[in-house]
Amino acid sequence: MKVEIDQKSGFCFGVVNAVSKAEEALQSNDKLYCLGDIVHNGMEVSRLETLGLITIDHKKYFTLKDCKVLLRTHGEPPSTYEYARENNIELIDATCPVVLKLQQRVRRAHEDMQQQQGQVIIFGKKGHAEVKGLLGQTGNRAILVENEADLEQIDPQKPLVMFSQTTKPLDDFHRLSAKIQERAQAPTDIKDTICRQVANRVPRLKIFAAGHDVMIFVGGRKSSNAKLLFAVCQQANPNSYFISGKEELDTNWFTGHNSVGISGATSTPQWLMEEIAEIIRKI
Ligand code: SF4
Repeated sequence: MKVEIDQKSGFCFGVVNAVSKAEEALQSNDKLYCLGDIVHNGMEVSRLETLGLITIDHKKYFTLKDCKVLLRTHGEPPSTYEYARENNIELIDATCPVVLKLQQRVRRAHEDMQQQQGQVIIFGKKGHAEVKGLLGQTGNRAILVENEADLEQIDPQKPLVMFSQTTKPLDDFHRLSAKIQERAQAPTDIKDTICRQVANRVPRLKIFAAGHDVMIFVGGRKSSNAKLLFAVCQQANPNSYFISGKEELDTNWFTGHNSVGISGATSTPQWLMEEIAEIIRKI
């Protein structure tokens, strides 16, 4: 069986940076909390938890004081930083620089739009951590749109600036922004803020998935990016399977086939894909 790992898959630079910040901080004996899963990959979270990382939710965070907390790549709203300042919490900020820059742009756009009686629109997934961080820059006054039905919330008579969550599909962003522009009767400023670490993987992955008999996609079930990239695999290759760990492999998938491709999301660790490749080679 020929097994090949997609060389362009696995951690993006934002996740590499967050994981190495966590590993570095865990070398001291201090307790280290992480606000939310450090990556949307249960196996990597467990690995870091065995090194001492303690994953907490926001409810727990707002009870802490005098400790160290790591902020993951998705970013946080200003209220998280304010609470840390007031409660002697040392933050290890691993917010991805791409997300940090987007937060600043959203904040500035909100200030501008307030002066012009305009609107800030965020295209993103309701409840997603990055989206909460972006909405927080506008005091939760930006309009979140996920689909066409949500466009009813936008006032076509008022100017608007639109941004996107970094991990949304480019096609969806273009379709929705075109609808917004069609309906608008005031100036619109559409800003494509999708991270190319994700978007650029799509065309390459299509070719990679089509070039193998069977495609195994490794990702966390909570990862938006994993869902998006797996859908790309399915379109290019009907023999595509999504797994989160080696125990989900089914030997029947490989019967009568000679080549297997393995790919993963921006939150999938390389060691996990290698472990899975090794098992498939032995089938
Ligand atoms: S996908 Fe892009 S924005 Fe998100 S963490 Fe990776 S590099 Fe940063």
